[in-house]
Amino acid sequence: MHKTCLLMIPGPTELTQGVLTALSAPMCSHLDPGFTDDWKQTLQRLRLVFGCSNGQPFVASGNGTLAMDMAAANLPEPDDTVLVVNTGVFGDRFASILGCYGRTVTQVCAPQIGDVPSLEAVENLLRDGNFKLLVATHVDTSTGVRVDVKRLAALGHRYGTLVVVDGVCAVAGEEMQQEEWNIDLVVAASQKALGAPPGLAIVMAGPRAVHAFHARKTPVRHGDADWTFWLPLVENGITRETRHRGTPPINLIRALNVALSQILAEGLEARVAHHELVSKAIKAGVNALGLTQVPIGPDRAAHTLSAVYYPPGLDCSLLAHVEEEGVILSGGFHPVIHDRYFRIGHMGTISHSDALKTLGALERGLDRAGYKFEPGAGSVAAQKVLSES
Ligand SMILES: *Cc1c(COP(=O)(O)O)cnc(C)c1O
Repeated sequence: MHKTCLLMIPGPTELTQGVLTALSAPMCSHLDPGFTDDWKQTLQRLRLVFGCSNGQPFVASGNGTLAMDMAAANLPEPDDTVLVVNTGVFGDRFASILGCYGRTVTQVCAPQIGDVPSLEAVENLLRDGNFKLLVATHVDTSTGVRVDVKRLAALGHRYGTLVVVDGVCAVAGEEMQQEEWNIDLVVAASQKALGAPPGLAIVMAGPRAVHAFHARKTPVRHGDADWTFWLPLVENGITRETRHRGTPPINLIRALNVALSQILAEGLEARVAHHELVSKAIKAGVNALGLTQVPIGPDRAAHTLSAVYYPPGLDCSLLAHVEEEGVILSGGFHPVIHDRYFRIGHMGTISHSDALKTLGALERGLDRAGYKFEPGAGSVAAQKVLSES
């Protein structure tokens, strides 16, 4: 591996020095007052970052998939039906996890890969079904597609569903106003736009989700993710009575706390605007190189990553050439097209010059792979976007 490789994949992301330092702090007891303060602060900062002042944040050892599992285990009951708005692999994953708990899942799929299901299609199903839950993926990392979760949430509430959003690849990179938009539950993970290391499953439950949990008639079928064990810790903080059931990942939580403080210091609005600008610059760059993207239009495309088709004649060997130039990109992830496209993650600590380095390395890689293009065209297009902002 190249010594100074820049990690530009859709999670995990590069870490700031402050986050790295928190990770290497000497180990302490999970009842240490320093850590119990960190725990409280982390939960409070999560409420700010999710825009959910009245939410209950759950932070558990695990990943985004476990956060999805926690939502599936605690919210719907065995007879409840769920509508999943599917824009890629992570919709499939949510549907399959819900299926594990015996829920009846209907999916409304995008008409083609790179598109989103229409609001009309979602509404037709909501009108005819009696869904307890509407689930959508804010940014599907397999396609680079972003859906309008604000409008979907409004629609879901008109038909009386709880609204769940997979925000793993979005929170802190795309705008999220969970409380204002009436989203009942958002799942996330530490290692994507939040800019912390992998290892934490994060769930933000709004008041209606917590109420639905308390109103359950059947027990939760999960021995660890059951909110019964977690709610006291969230509501009261860590005490001798309400301590974690299993040992918490102390330094990961501390690292997340630092990452959250850095996000809040930057300001959420500024951070989202920065992600939009960097995304526009990278997308302008790949367009100028003659490459096409998986999302079928800019209004469908995420700001946290770009999903780009290889030009004719090229394949994933391009990524090795780009890595030779010091930038690590990611291959495709959608099973139908996985060998036809690659992904550039641009979330977390991403800077303007990281974007330019990535396009520069991509150009060098394309050149080595024998692709013909105007040298520098990608960088020029990106610089124009950055300097016109
Ligand atoms: C990465 C991702 C997940 C899964 O998260 P893991 O931490 O890899 O388990 C779920 N949903 C989306 C949208 C993701 O990008």
